[in-house]
Amino acid sequence: AALVRCDDVARTYGSGPAAVVAVHGLDCHVPPGARIAVVGPSGSGKSTLLHLMAGLDRPTAGKVSHPGIDGADADTLTRHIGVVFQGPSLLPPLTVAENVALPLRIDGVPETEADDRAQVALARLELTELARRLPDELSAGQAQRVAVARVLARRPRLVLADEPTGQLDRATGRQVLAILLGTAQELGAAVLVTTHDPRIARALDVRWYMADGRLIRPEAGDGGDDRT
Ligand code: ADP
Ligand code: ADP
Repeated sequence: AALVRCDDVARTYGSGPAAVVAVHGLDCHVPPGARIAVVGPSGSGKSTLLHLMAGLDRPTAGKVSHPGIDGADADTLTRHIGVVFQGPSLLPPLTVAENVALPLRIDGVPETEADDRAQVALARLELTELARRLPDELSAGQAQRVAVARVLARRPRLVLADEPTGQLDRATGRQVLAILLGTAQELGAAVLVTTHDPRIARALDVRWYMADGRLIRPEAGDGGDDRT
């Protein structure tokens, strides 16, 4: 079953004449293991779609459901859906290893196991040498890799990444994305990445296009794969 599905979803901000329709008429779903890029210009509704899929925001019309995630209450959703934002948003007083272990501790994972899983995630992202550093001491690319490690340590079934390379130079962005995709594949997690950069989108298997709050399918019924 789909990890997330949107049925005729809309999200409007504000009301009356000043209302902004951020997204509307969205019909889509993310199957297990899918690797999808959501491509569109700034303001086209990509972040709104991602927040709705993550359960961080609610639609003003239509339905967002998570049929493939059992007992999809808010806590279960946070455990199974990992979200990577544009900036790494690490907690400055905590070391890299502590930042990665913290969500696991919040999930109720015992300290030793949380530390072990954090170490495994850091090793996957080639961050072992940086485990004791503080976020201030990292480059932007390193910090974003830590944010990816923090999400993957929870072994999510779906990773939603909102312009994860937006603050990185092109080479570093490519590297972070490649590591994100490789690790997600090892875990069997589905990945959906928003980007305004078609070159980044090429790294994914399927591309969905957004414009003015709508998803545009290149060709209906073909699953959205626009490779030729
Ligand atoms: P993207 O991620 O593609 O840049 P967004 O989903 O952030 O697009 O924004 C879609 C539209 O919704 C834009 O017109 C944006 O200005 C508007 N919008 C987004 N968030 C808010 C908000 N909190 N309040 C009002 N308007 C918003
Ligand atoms: P169904 O109607 O079979 O339940 P959907 O209509 O939600 O499924 O989607 C059909 C296929 O199109 C799926 O593979 C879905 O992932 C894909 N898809 C959904 N939205 C888009 C889009 N904007 N661009 C390309 N493919 C899409």
